[in-house]
Amino acid sequence: MNTSYDCVVIGGGIVGAATTRALAARGRRVLLLERAMPVSEASGAAAGMLAPQLEVQAGDPLLPLAIAARQYYAELVPELDRRTGVNVGYCLGGSLQVALDAGEAAALQAQVAAQTALGLKAEWLPREALARRQPGIGPEALGALLAPDDARVNNVTLTAALLADATRYGAEIVDHEAVTEVVVSSGRVTAVATPRRRYGTGAAVVAAGAWSPSLKGLPRALPIEPVRGQIAMVTWPVGEPPGVLFGRHLYVVPRGEDAILGSTMEQAGFAKDTTAGGLARIFAGTIALLPVLAAQRIHRTWAGLRPVTPDGRPVIGADPEVAGLWYATGHGRQGILLGPITGEIIRDLLLDGATRWDLDACAVTRFAAAA
Ligand SMILES: Cc1cc2nc3c(=O)[nH]c(=O)nc-3n(C[C@H](O)[C@H](O)[C@H](O)COP(=O)(O)OP(=O)(O)OC[C@H]3O[C@@H](n4cnc5c(N)ncnc54)[C@H](O)[C@@H]3O)c2cc1C
Repeated sequence: MNTSYDCVVIGGGIVGAATTRALAARGRRVLLLERAMPVSEASGAAAGMLAPQLEVQAGDPLLPLAIAARQYYAELVPELDRRTGVNVGYCLGGSLQVALDAGEAAALQAQVAAQTALGLKAEWLPREALARRQPGIGPEALGALLAPDDARVNNVTLTAALLADATRYGAEIVDHEAVTEVVVSSGRVTAVATPRRRYGTGAAVVAAGAWSPSLKGLPRALPIEPVRGQIAMVTWPVGEPPGVLFGRHLYVVPRGEDAILGSTMEQAGFAKDTTAGGLARIFAGTIALLPVLAAQRIHRTWAGLRPVTPDGRPVIGADPEVAGLWYATGHGRQGILLGPITGEIIRDLLLDGATRWDLDACAVTRFAAAA
């Protein structure tokens, strides 16, 4: 062991990148270790929706954090732009959750009422208003929940910008170096080990996405599973205003000149294949939302693995038994939304010993309690 770090972050996705940047910005000596290339897993595969009002129901304990995570982007994006010059493709413009039958329309109208009661902006657009906003909307659409404060971002360039900025703040980033073990001695983290060497540190942040449970040395099993999501990218239809459309877990998200069509939720182990069946479901569902998509050219298809916990909420915070062990993982369907604020939270906990967020719903101990 010849070098010592204040903190070693394990994993170069959005969560590891944001955490590394946040700690390095406060002058800490931080090392990020990435098994392959940064941004090569879920954080590179995602659709980039910042849509807490579609993804998190009113009443879910995660909602306040998810809303704050969306707001935090308004602060983060100009700062990253100023410091790195990278265009992270951040667009405000809202999102629409489309009702395709009467039951869905009733449920979405109830969500509008519940969200409005919480002080969030949400509106029910009947079919005519929806068609004025999105003229190509499919004939089955009865109306939609409009969340006007929702946004979207290019998750690939965003994560790259976070990493670039972390480096500018002095962090070290090493790729193609897989962590095998978090080394714990007398109840404290003392190092992080790879097949090549040991990196001495008093703090380790587990941010290895779907692979987090495989790290040796953790004092508990992490119930995080890979859930595959397939995506197709087509050209955005000329004449159709760009907008995020979401219906029955399938969505259309504009990205530059293109449209991202997603996504499946599949338990297929660590296989990142795209399949005929998966893509067929995506095309059928998204063409129902926006029929004009049927004529669009397919540019690319891919798949990524979401790190998903049994209750769909992330694991954020300290291990109660091992000093210096931190979890920032299991972000499921919302890691692009929640990744940047997770970095801020881990920084506050690690450096100041406190956060203003109630993280009970994200504590690692909740799984033991449920068992
Ligand atoms: C198809 C799809 C669409 C999505 N769309 C959205 C969306 O619109 N909005 C949203 O908010 N979220 C979305 N998500 C979810 C989001 O992408 C994830 O929650 C988020 O990227 C998780 O980030 P992460 O950094 O935890 O994991 P990852 O991005 O998977 O990064 C983990 C990193 O750890 C590395 N690693 C693993 N093991 C080791 C090891 N032993 N040593 C070192 N490094 C290791 C991996 O190589 C990887 O780079 C989507 C996900 C998918 C798959």
